[in-house]
Amino acid sequence: MTEQETRRFLVEQLRVLYARGWISGTGGGICGPADGGGLLVAPTGVHKELVEPDELFTVDHHTEAVVVAPERPGLRPSECTPIFTLIARERGATSVVHTHALSAVLFGDLAEGGDAVTVERLEMLKGIRGFANTEQHAIPVIRNTPREIELVGNMAAAIADPRFARTFAVVVEDHGVYVWGADIWEAKRHTETYHYLFEATVARRSRRTGG
Ligand SMILES: [Zn+2]
Repeated sequence: MTEQETRRFLVEQLRVLYARGWISGTGGGICGPADGGGLLVAPTGVHKELVEPDELFTVDHHTEAVVVAPERPGLRPSECTPIFTLIARERGATSVVHTHALSAVLFGDLAEGGDAVTVERLEMLKGIRGFANTEQHAIPVIRNTPREIELVGNMAAAIADPRFARTFAVVVEDHGVYVWGADIWEAKRHTETYHYLFEATVARRSRRTGG
C-alpha cells in the first residue's frame, strides 16, 4: 500500500466511524503508517468525517515531533498524538483508532471503578488476534482526565500491566476507547470486533440485572 492509499483509507475509515456513531462532534481520531516509519495523524478540533487525505500530519513516533504538516494553515495534529505514539512504541502498532462510542462508555461503567471488565462466551472473540471463542478476555479500563494529553500516564500503566499483555484495546472511563493493530486492516478488524464485544456485554449484563 502506498502512503497515498493509506491516507485515503484513513479518511474513509473516519467517515465509516462517523456513520456508525462512534465518532461525532469532532471527537475521536485515527492514525496509520507513513512512508519512512512515522505515523499519519488526523488533525484535532475538526469534523473528522470531513478530513481530506492531504490534511493528515506525519509524526515521528519516537520523538513525537511533526515531520510533515499539511499545507492548509490552522490545523494542529490530533490531541491523541501522544497516546498514538505511545501505543506504537510499546505495542508495535502502526494504526490506532480512538472512538467516543457510547457502547465503550457503558462497557467502562461495568468496571464499577475497577480496572478491567472481562468478556467471555462470544464467537466474536476470535476477531481479536490470539483469542479463541472459549477464552476470557480482560479488557483494561482507565480513569479519564480533563485533557486527552493527560491520559498518557494512565494509558502507559495499563499497557505495561502484564495482566493486559494480550489486549489490543484500552477503555477510558466516561470517554471511549483506544484500539490498535499491527496494520490498518488489523486495527479496523479489532475496532469493529471490540465495539461488538462492548455492545454484547453491556446488553447481556443489563438483561441480567433487569436494568
Ligand atoms: Zn477522546
